[in-house]
Amino acid sequence: MTETIIRLTDLRYPTQTPQIPDVLRPATGHLEDGLGRHLHDLRISVTDRCNFRCVYCMPKDVFDKDYTFLPHSSLLTFEEIERSARLFVAHGVEKIRLTGGEPLLRKNLERLVEMLAAIRTPSGKPLDLTLTTNGSLLKRKAQTLKDAGLTRVTVSLDSLDDATFRRMNDVDFPVASVLEGIAEAQRVGLGPIKVNMVVKRGTNDHDIVPVARHFHGSGIVVRFIEFMDVGTSNGWRMDDVLPSADVIARLHAHLPVEPLEPNYPGETAQRWRYVDGGGEIGVISSVTRAFCGTCSRARLSTEGKLYLCLFASAGHDLRALLRGGASDAEISAAIGEIWAGRTDRYSALRTAATGLPENAAPKVEMSYIGG
Ligand code: SAM
Ligand code: SF4
Ligand code: SF4
Repeated sequence: MTETIIRLTDLRYPTQTPQIPDVLRPATGHLEDGLGRHLHDLRISVTDRCNFRCVYCMPKDVFDKDYTFLPHSSLLTFEEIERSARLFVAHGVEKIRLTGGEPLLRKNLERLVEMLAAIRTPSGKPLDLTLTTNGSLLKRKAQTLKDAGLTRVTVSLDSLDDATFRRMNDVDFPVASVLEGIAEAQRVGLGPIKVNMVVKRGTNDHDIVPVARHFHGSGIVVRFIEFMDVGTSNGWRMDDVLPSADVIARLHAHLPVEPLEPNYPGETAQRWRYVDGGGEIGVISSVTRAFCGTCSRARLSTEGKLYLCLFASAGHDLRALLRGGASDAEISAAIGEIWAGRTDRYSALRTAATGLPENAAPKVEMSYIGG
């Protein structure tokens, strides 16, 4: 097993330093890629570290005590993140999600939130500024994050059954603490709160209906996520994926649901509502129903590499420009060129029947690129 582990350094994944174009086209607030998809969302990973070892994301046998996480000097500073974010917003980004690893492990994160919350879109609107967390530190940090200007949070919660939850996070973390974090986030007004449940067949699929029932009528939207073949270390097999259609069928048998229209084009989750008025749920079907056609998301890794797809193997080293003396106009034009050349659509190309696409290059880990 150990011989397949790639020891990580700053050079763990191939990167290219972006070219600064000869003609510096200014941002127009609307940037289309090679397939006509406009840039709207930016996910920023603020750390590659995590206090959980979820079996589908950071399996313990790979992310063990010998695993080399990024050194602090590799991480983008808050000033570098804010500068990058401003440039992306000028290109049309309206939604920023902080992620990781576990974003609440990044020291003084509320300071970064404050800096990002001050950014305005070209039409003067504040950003939709959100964060995905495992909830372990949320009870302690919710109020500070709200005060700093965070709009809302998404909390990952894979089971309500304490034994299953501890098995899935693999660090024996109790589910009650995450529920307290969610309650605190709701109390301080970090809503509408979403709860993400990754469904792994045979591991936690027995908990779909209990989780739905628990949040039914609470105003919290649960999203059931198909187990994805991100990275190379989570042992993904098609047999472990429970298709979203089955999730809906199981729910419908206990709590009848009907489909809803998307909130906006490119929304990752398909929306459903309880027929009895108990609120809404979502399913994210990256495996069985790819949504690449409307994918408007860019990802900035912890060390400042720009990735155009969750399943990418290589990134564009924006940090080299940020630290190499490039001007805002130069970095902005480079971002414009990179996005304009984007044709990624991994999920759409995935051969659902037989599993992974043939000759797939090693993909970056989710904990590194940010979910
Ligand atoms: N640590 C934070 C958390 O867990 O919410 C943020 C980072 S985590 C990588 C972001 C999201 O990715 C989480 O909701 C997690 O459940 C999801 N995720 C991680 N690995 C996944 C996989 N193999 N398939 C589907 N979702 C996954
Ligand atoms: Fe950590 Fe989130 Fe990955 Fe779980 S899903 S190991 S909490 S980064
Ligand atoms: Fe977007 Fe890549 Fe996911 Fe397709 S596979 S929806 S392009 S992130």
